Amino acid sequence: MMTLKAIELNGFKSFGKKSTVSFTTPTTCVVGPNGSGKSNIVESIRFVLGEQSMKSLRGKGGVDLIFKGSKALSHSSRAQVLITFDNSKKIFSFTNSGLGVSLDYDEVVIGREVFPDGVNKYTINNTEVRLKDVVDLLASVNIGSSGHHIISQGEADRVLNASNKDRRAMIEDALGLKVYQYRIRESERKLEKTHINMKEVQALRREIAPHLAFLKKQVQIVEKAREMRDELRGFYKDYLSKESSYIKTEGKRLGDVRHTLEKQSRSLEERISELKSTKEEPQASKHSSAIKTHESELGILRTKKDELSRTLGRLEGTIDGFDREFARASKTKGKVITEGEWRSVVDALDREIDKALESENISEIATILKNMKSRLQTLSRDVETSVEEIDENIKEEYSRVKIARDGVLADMEAIGHNEKQILAQIDELRSDERAVEASLRESERNLYELMREKNEVESSIHSLVFEEDKLNMIKNSFEMELQEASVLIGQDVLSYKNAEVTGEVVRSAQDDLRKKIERIKIKLEDMGSPNSSEMLKEYQDTEERDQFLAKESEDLKQGIDSLKVLIQDLKETLDTEFKTGVSKINKQFQEFFSLMFGGGSAFLSVVMDHKKSRKTDEDIEEEESEAGETELGFERGIEINVTLPQKKVKDLHMLSGGERSLTSIALLFAMSQVNPPPFLVLDETDAALDEANSRKYGNMLDNLSKYSQLVVVTHNRETMSRAQVLYGVTMDASGASKLLSIRLEDASAYAK
Ligand code: ATP
Repeated sequence: MMTLKAIELNGFKSFGKKSTVSFTTPTTCVVGPNGSGKSNIVESIRFVLGEQSMKSLRGKGGVDLIFKGSKALSHSSRAQVLITFDNSKKIFSFTNSGLGVSLDYDEVVIGREVFPDGVNKYTINNTEVRLKDVVDLLASVNIGSSGHHIISQGEADRVLNASNKDRRAMIEDALGLKVYQYRIRESERKLEKTHINMKEVQALRREIAPHLAFLKKQVQIVEKAREMRDELRGFYKDYLSKESSYIKTEGKRLGDVRHTLEKQSRSLEERISELKSTKEEPQASKHSSAIKTHESELGILRTKKDELSRTLGRLEGTIDGFDREFARASKTKGKVITEGEWRSVVDALDREIDKALESENISEIATILKNMKSRLQTLSRDVETSVEEIDENIKEEYSRVKIARDGVLADMEAIGHNEKQILAQIDELRSDERAVEASLRESERNLYELMREKNEVESSIHSLVFEEDKLNMIKNSFEMELQEASVLIGQDVLSYKNAEVTGEVVRSAQDDLRKKIERIKIKLEDMGSPNSSEMLKEYQDTEERDQFLAKESEDLKQGIDSLKVLIQDLKETLDTEFKTGVSKINKQFQEFFSLMFGGGSAFLSVVMDHKKSRKTDEDIEEEESEAGETELGFERGIEINVTLPQKKVKDLHMLSGGERSLTSIALLFAMSQVNPPPFLVLDETDAALDEANSRKYGNMLDNLSKYSQLVVVTHNRETMSRAQVLYGVTMDASGASKLLSIRLEDASAYAK
């Protein structure tokens, strides 16, 4: 079971030249004079296994590990160490996979280089890796970082000097519990990281929450606005279709009305002008002048008639006078009238005839009267001679007067007839005149009536203009509304054209509808007009992101929970394993101890120590999460209890150097026995032992080498005798270490 195969040093400390130590036997001793470079080999093993403490490597920086050169040899540019393990049984593995390093080989070669500037380079099978990969890989073969498997010079009793806490770590390491520790730490780191992630996620959610809320509100507004726009669309369709229909119908109606009214107006105008032109003004005056002519004719006739009437009176008076004379004469027939009587008659006649003659008007009468006078003159002359004769003359005169009177009467009748005719004509004219006047009045009435009608028509036209203006206003506001609507609801607005409008459009209903539209418009304006598609997209994105974060948060919470469970499980396992391990070590420890000391007792106990100093809460919390911490302010440690045979001394500090060495060797070996590491390096651990104890030590080495390969640096001959191969280290004048392998027989010879 040779796991450790070889170590190759190149430029490491005193090894200026490439040197290889092969480990082909269970126990390999490295021997040589002081200062030859033996411990440098042990350190090279520490180095290549990932030791980070420069103190453990006896240096201050990387440059101290590099061969500084000598008179004969120039210094190295870097220190390199390669360690080769057997992996034919595939014992190596990684805790975290996926490093891209194949372990599917029979050998595993781990390499480390350090450069003067302190930069380190790690390799596994020639592939560059990180330190943690090396640590991880070694943990799989129970080679921990506590270095319990490498006991350096002067460090033999390190396990005794260590604090309880450090000792616990060593034991955990030896028990191969580092894997758990490592896993716990990894899990805790993960937990911490998860917590941080969780906080980040929560912070992100908190960060986007107000924006999300804002967006949600905006989206609600957008949705509300869309609903309102839908409502508006409906209202608009209704309103605009009705309005358009109204405008059409009303326009047609007003057009018809205008046409009718204008026609009426024209016809009235025509009739009025016609009426005005036919109205005859002179008709009436024609009648009245004709009447006047007739009336003056009538006046003349009447004067004539008066004249005749007077003449008639006189003639009848004359006739009466004659009649009286005739009556008197008949009474006195045969008597002769005196001259006096006669004279008076003649004189009376004469006067009357004179009077008649004075009238100038009727020439005919005058003629007659002249004749009468002349006869009367004749008569008066005859009277003187014969009364009989006179009587005859008067009779003649009498009948002439009578004839004259009849002529006058006939004339008067003719005049009366004439008068009647004229009066009838006047009557006719008057009635004509009245008729004309009546018709004039009638046509005037008609004119007035027409004018009134025309006025009415004009006022109707006036009201029509008013209505037309109103319709124009409606048209304008319709156009404006249409434009506004197209801005608000887009091309959909034109759908009003397809809407069917039945029945009459009621203006008040339209006004109500318009009011509703206005109200919605105001509301929409108040809402503002967030870019809906962008807003929605952003809201969806943000919402998705929030959902994602919520999911993430939930996942992280679950991660935290399961990590906590895992850590708890690991801690419990670690605890159990640790306890079992400690009791196993105790068994071996007791055995080795009594073997070394020929009795006595030795055991480890788990103790709870107070922490050395109070730290901040954060530190405590951090440390508490470490395995091995059970209570606040306490830490678990391992105490060594020994009782030497026949001695009462129990305190480790009171042991002698040799006793300390033996105790620690017993413990170290016990630890190695329980969970054997692939190899153990012991650097002059036996320095303090006397001969008898050296033998016991040698026996234990023999025993131990069955489980672990041993690399022993020693000056002790007894120890050397237990090895199968000896490596001699020398340092010649060149100032660099040199190696030479010595066979066992030679070794024995050298030892003697
Ligand atoms: P001892 O038996 O006394 O313990 P040793 O064989 O263990 O001695 P080491 O301690 O391994 O000796 O070697 C020490 C030697 O290595 C010293 O001589 C020291 O000068 C040399 N050395 C240490 N570091 C370097 C270096 N960087 N370059 C060259 N030589 C070095």
